Amino acid sequence: MTLTTIGFDADDTLWHNERFFRLTQARFHDLLADHAPPERLEERLLAAERRNIGHYGFGVKGFTLSMIETAIEVSESRVPAAVIGEIMAAGREMLAHPIELLPSARAAVEALSGRYKLVLVTKGDLLDQERKLAQSGLGDLFDAVEIVSDKRPETYTTVFARHGSGADEGMMIGNSLKSDVLPMIAAGGWGVYVPHDLTWALEHALPPEGHPRFAELPDLGGLSDLVARIG
Ligand SMILES: [Mg+2]
Repeated sequence: MTLTTIGFDADDTLWHNERFFRLTQARFHDLLADHAPPERLEERLLAAERRNIGHYGFGVKGFTLSMIETAIEVSESRVPAAVIGEIMAAGREMLAHPIELLPSARAAVEALSGRYKLVLVTKGDLLDQERKLAQSGLGDLFDAVEIVSDKRPETYTTVFARHGSGADEGMMIGNSLKSDVLPMIAAGGWGVYVPHDLTWALEHALPPEGHPRFAELPDLGGLSDLVARIG
């Protein structure tokens, strides 16, 4: 088969991301410790995030607003304004965290750059994703960057037609089965799952075991061999 275009997810595929959400969530639990136990906070925060995705999209801004909404809810509107201020500060700190590439990320992208069309496909806040890409030092290795509001089969159909020769001659690599792998396979392309040890609850899905266009790698180190076998 022909493979012309390779898409990479960014967060927790090329660089660490979820760990900063977990750290902030731990701080959130400390701030609200007088109002609710951690399990209830976690459950109400996840419910708020689920409700709010359609309004705010994916990313730190929506997460911050969901924390504020949860703080108001669990405290029955008694949370002090100073605590809201702390939550907002925690959110702003997330927007400044340093970029730490995952092992093999740079080598894997370098090995394919110039030989295939490489497209970075990521959800999240526009400014934050642009900042992280700039700080990663990987920007010049990609032919295109797409910061999208969601990752559905139609998203990949459009992106791979725009930058390559269609999803059926494309491959998407990422740590989320739900966002990176399953919708790409539904669009007719290859989906390569590279799990990360921390995955947001809303990104969980079952792997399409046995599908001829599904592959799983323990890390990005094996990617160029896999691409050579397929392409
Ligand atoms: Mg990801």
